[in-house]
Amino acid sequence: MKPPAHIVISAGAALLVGQGFQSTGAGWACFFSGVFIDIDHLFDYLLRSPHRKLSVRDFFHPDQWGPDGKLYLIFHGWEYLPLLLLASLIPGITEIAWGIFIGVFIHLILDHIHNNGHPLTYFVIYRWKSAFHFHRLFNLPLKGQDE
Ligand SMILES: [Zn+2]
Repeated sequence: MKPPAHIVISAGAALLVGQGFQSTGAGWACFFSGVFIDIDHLFDYLLRSPHRKLSVRDFFHPDQWGPDGKLYLIFHGWEYLPLLLLASLIPGITEIAWGIFIGVFIHLILDHIHNNGHPLTYFVIYRWKSAFHFHRLFNLPLKGQDE
């Protein structure tokens, strides 16, 4: 899913979370986690891009980033959610942890629905077992390859 959609949906979710928990911090945590989880795309881009300079046009075509066709997405992982639930048990950060949990949960659901990936693509373990190959994760051929 594209960033503007994540921004709008995360903002709406953040308002509800902030109201629900009566916590501005929880609302902001939901918004920032729902939007900035995608910062890992930037890490992947800088790591995989052969020319290593920013190009907005290239950035939105990860299937063309690098010759090895790998995509790590280190922050996109269903495995992190149980850890956030555990963090919510820590006094003093309960609402913030719930805000992050909800922001990440909504983000992953939206990416799963919109990005045409394998059903397990947003599990870090699945990506690792797939050697982080973009074409295996998203059922798309790499540019210039027959797979
Ligand atoms: Zn994402």
